[in-house]
Amino acid sequence: MSDRPLELEFVKSATDHTTFDDLGPEVAFVGRSNVGKSSIINAVANRRGLATVSNTPGRTRLLNQFAHKGGGALMDLPGYGFARVSDTERLRWQSMIEDYLTQREQLVMVVALVDGEIGPVKLDTTLLQWLRGVGVPHAVVATKGDRLKSAALGRRRNEVAAGCGLHPDDIRWVSSTSGRGVDGMRTWVRSLLLG
Ligand code: GDP
Repeated sequence: MSDRPLELEFVKSATDHTTFDDLGPEVAFVGRSNVGKSSIINAVANRRGLATVSNTPGRTRLLNQFAHKGGGALMDLPGYGFARVSDTERLRWQSMIEDYLTQREQLVMVVALVDGEIGPVKLDTTLLQWLRGVGVPHAVVATKGDRLKSAALGRRRNEVAAGCGLHPDDIRWVSSTSGRGVDGMRTWVRSLLLG
């Protein structure tokens, strides 16, 4: 059965999480740049341009809040792993994200996106270890599921899970291109947002 899109509206971008409104439970999307984060946010909302709001110049390095009609908020966190940033900027950026993830009371779930086509890379596993270490609730979602060839599907799923230190059943697979898994994401994220 298909689930209806999440009704999301952009609220604002900021560096300091204390300046965001309290809209109820928050679900934060994180991932390496180019992992498919904007595409999956657009897909769950069925709004092509929604997450491009967060991709507009000046906002790519900020925390972006989207209000969910009915309650809660989706947070789009800046993509990590840009090559050309200074160490100072990297530290500033890291502390902005870490402060949000460890101090934000509204945060109920971190959706850690991993590129299903190439599997987890060092930056992903570092983030997952850190999330485990600080005890922030999180789940792994593998993107670009359409890129997996059916013959190798089972093996790739096992490889991705092993790389993330998880059981294959614990990883949700999505494809914004084919739409596979998008319904399941809507149902799951909605239930988190509505508490
Ligand atoms: P972001 O940087 O994490 O926000 O990633 P984007 O959503 O902008 O996507 C990065 C690239 O991956 C773009 O070229 C997308 O077209 C592509 N992409 C995103 N989702 C999928 C998917 O489900 N399947 C495939 N094949 N490509 C995707």
